[in-house]
Amino acid sequence: MADEITIGLDIGGTKMAFVVADRQGNIHHASSLPTEAQADFALTLKRIIEQLNPLIARYENVCGIGIGVPGPVDSVRGVALHAANLGWKNVGLRDAIAELLLRPLPIYLDNDVNAGAIGEKLFGAAKGVSNCLYLIVGTGLGGAVISNNRLLRGASNSEMEIGHVSLDPINGLLCACGQRGCLETTASGKGIVAQALDRIGDYPHSRLSSKAITTHEIIRLAGEGDALAVKVMNQAADALGIACAWCVNLFNPSLIIFAGGLARASWHLLEKPLRQSMRARCLPLNDEAVTLSLSKLNDGALGASALAWHQEEQTDQP
Ligand SMILES: [Zn+2]
Repeated sequence: MADEITIGLDIGGTKMAFVVADRQGNIHHASSLPTEAQADFALTLKRIIEQLNPLIARYENVCGIGIGVPGPVDSVRGVALHAANLGWKNVGLRDAIAELLLRPLPIYLDNDVNAGAIGEKLFGAAKGVSNCLYLIVGTGLGGAVISNNRLLRGASNSEMEIGHVSLDPINGLLCACGQRGCLETTASGKGIVAQALDRIGDYPHSRLSSKAITTHEIIRLAGEGDALAVKVMNQAADALGIACAWCVNLFNPSLIIFAGGLARASWHLLEKPLRQSMRARCLPLNDEAVTLSLSKLNDGALGASALAWHQEEQTDQP
């Protein structure tokens, strides 16, 4: 039905955001509440239901619920496999919510990165695009691939962990995953801070202070020409360009979307060197096919609301 709407819920480490949105991505309602990540699951579930049921009562044309959670998700079983910042392991969120809903509705649970990619495809920069790479450059580095209109899914629901592909396994900085030189140690928020700290002794004239290095300061000072800040941002752009070149040669997308706080805040610094780094490393035919864009969605809950529509389209396909 044309006037059907879905509910989107994005569960983050600090807040849970809810939207009611239609198929065109128009938001009819938006609200949020603190996640209280330390609370036990039963309490979090109760707080989610206290938001969902009044929305279901108020909007009788709700036809589904999409939920995005951090970390790997088994979307077939509706299980959040490991959301470290929520303290969740193997949480059967879909069925737990389904049991308590005012009326039966299909619930689609997925990783928040996949939800962001699907949101872009339905409502954002990837509208009408069949082959697209979605990169989140934020505190960490992750991504999703839409290939021939479908999300790429792996054997253990942990695909596209591009942040943990190592560029320098011998001399690179130690990554949280245990390897050295992962892309995330160069091309992410925590990566640029770690790189600046590691090199600060070589730049006595830098205005970055080892006591208070933040991504915000690095971006600001890189814009003013501070040599260390510029170095760190150029390294990040170069590493992202390498990551893009690999993905462009592997998946042959027509679009790469950059989402995440670092990409958004420093696109004016990253775009040109990133593009050069990518272009130098991918096959000409693949390079000619691809364009780069910043995310146009910037709303995790709206992305989650798109999961229900996407699922419907997938079921419609032969
Ligand atoms: Zn790693």
